[in-house]
Amino acid sequence: MTIINKIIDGKIYAEKLLKEISPLSKEFLKNFNREPSLTVIQVGDNPASKIYVKNKILTAKKNGIKSKEILLASDVSEDELIQHISILNKDENVDGILVQLPLPKHISEKKIINIIDPSKDVDGFHPTNFGNLFMGDSKFIPCTPLGCLYMLKHEIKDIKGKNAVIVGRSNIVGKPMASLLLSSDCSVTITHSRTKNIQEHTRKADILIVAVGIPEMIDEKFIKPGAIVIDIGINRLETKTTDNASNKKVIVGDVKFEKVLKVAKKITPVPGGVGPMTIACLMHNTVKAAYINKKNDFINVLEGILWWTG
Ligand code: NDP
Repeated sequence: MTIINKIIDGKIYAEKLLKEISPLSKEFLKNFNREPSLTVIQVGDNPASKIYVKNKILTAKKNGIKSKEILLASDVSEDELIQHISILNKDENVDGILVQLPLPKHISEKKIINIIDPSKDVDGFHPTNFGNLFMGDSKFIPCTPLGCLYMLKHEIKDIKGKNAVIVGRSNIVGKPMASLLLSSDCSVTITHSRTKNIQEHTRKADILIVAVGIPEMIDEKFIKPGAIVIDIGINRLETKTTDNASNKKVIVGDVKFEKVLKVAKKITPVPGGVGPMTIACLMHNTVKAAYINKKNDFINVLEGILWWTG
């Protein structure tokens, strides 16, 4: 297999999914005289968050979704943020609400996630959606794990019975990923910072999902030959330019790409792997929210697109 065939291109998969979703936003406009709509709230000016929000807004616009950004100062009070969300919850022209994480330390993320109306919770983090996911029946599945599953279901003909190992147990990635893989009949192991001898687990993985936030932590020694590796990590590192004149920012994943590429069957790159799929899945969830909020039959069509979640 050539190197190029070993790389799972998230940009191509994202385009494929968006091509399926875009006609449904147009159909929504035709039926309800407005586009599906997404409001993203960003608190403060975290540079990484700014890039993510900009990409979300742009992708929405390109795919027939009305998008709006609410930018709040980093010292905004928790109460003021809650007021903004309450207004959006009541606005019937707003289908999806997303509060970009992380939030400043003085604001409780848990409290904010709980305030968002579950039927507009396009991130899928509200306890109602999160709980339903673990019951195997959620309206909104968190975008990053959903995007990973989309690529896995296209890459692996029969995912049933595969050994899937996840490194990282966060609520936004590791845990929902485990639930989705379990629903797909994989045997799932979750590892974390207290796991003893992680390699012992990862070396048994047919599918290895990594979401730790430690640059290039996973090298070839963690990999079972022939495994499919999904690198969720996004780490921004500063390196000197060759002339040492300035600092350059590079983005790397949690996996040592070049080394692991030699052992794995397939691997997602960073950037250009999971990132674009996360945004495409946000568009999917927003259009779904729009139809749900209109109690429209088209929801069945969207669920058809989601054949890969079962
Ligand atoms: P969190 O910090 O919330 O969670 C990290 C997880 O990694 C924790 O469960 C932690 O364990 C575990 N961990 C930390 N150190 C180790 C270690 N040495 N060995 C094993 N496990 C360890 O991070 P997120 O889940 O939010 O994000 C993880 C990465 O994914 C980040 O780089 C983030 O930027 C990226 N990300 C990318 C997205 C995308 O669209 N591509 C979307 C979301 C995140 P413990 O629970 O024990 O502390």
